[in-house]
Amino acid sequence: MDRSVHHDSLVSQGRCGRCAERVRRAAILVGDDCDRCGASLQMSGGQMVDELADRHRRWRWKGYGLIGVGSFLAGFVPLLQVVVQVVGLLVLHVVVLRRGLEWLPVGRRILARMTMKLLGAVIALAAVVVNVVVAPFVGAAAVVLAVAGPLLTAVYVEGSLAVLRRRLRWQARGEPVRWGEWIVPLVMVALLVGVVTLTVALVAGAVQFVASLEVPAIDEISSFLLEWLE
Ligand SMILES: [Zn+2]
Repeated sequence: MDRSVHHDSLVSQGRCGRCAERVRRAAILVGDDCDRCGASLQMSGGQMVDELADRHRRWRWKGYGLIGVGSFLAGFVPLLQVVVQVVGLLVLHVVVLRRGLEWLPVGRRILARMTMKLLGAVIALAAVVVNVVVAPFVGAAAVVLAVAGPLLTAVYVEGSLAVLRRRLRWQARGEPVRWGEWIVPLVMVALLVGVVTLTVALVAGAVQFVASLEVPAIDEISSFLLEWLE
């Protein structure tokens, strides 16, 4: 194997390219020297940041495709697509994002993970809203969800990748944690509260509307729902 390829392969596994000892991942990102042998931890073929960002690109597209199919099938049972959506988000997070997060030092990593989690929560709630809105239209709901499912997932994964890439770059330049890294989770919490309020209002509104139709069977279901909501 070419010497520089061997070096880069070791570095990408979090080891020194010369003595193969485990080194701090943050040290690799900023291009420090090895603590043991003093060799440079910089990659010869391109930047570690790009290498991390490009990894798993094909997994993303496979994931979106699978979630599309899963959402279509689940779309025939009211609200079941929410389960597909949440499982899809969790799996893609592990496959695409977790490895990159490990390269950030602990403080920055916690903030980045928080930002991603909040984005994921907003996406999951958006999926609940879409599911509730299309629930009455059996058949058409499956088609809408087959499009909405992958789209919402892509917003999460691509958004989180953008968050990750930026922080890896800042880390590689040795920049300290910025105020923006704090403010994003804060703004997201505010957004989340807004979406929860909207969802509750939508569901309550829908139940009241159905109750006002005074169809006997629906009336029973809605009075049950209203009791359950109280
Ligand atoms: Zn070394």
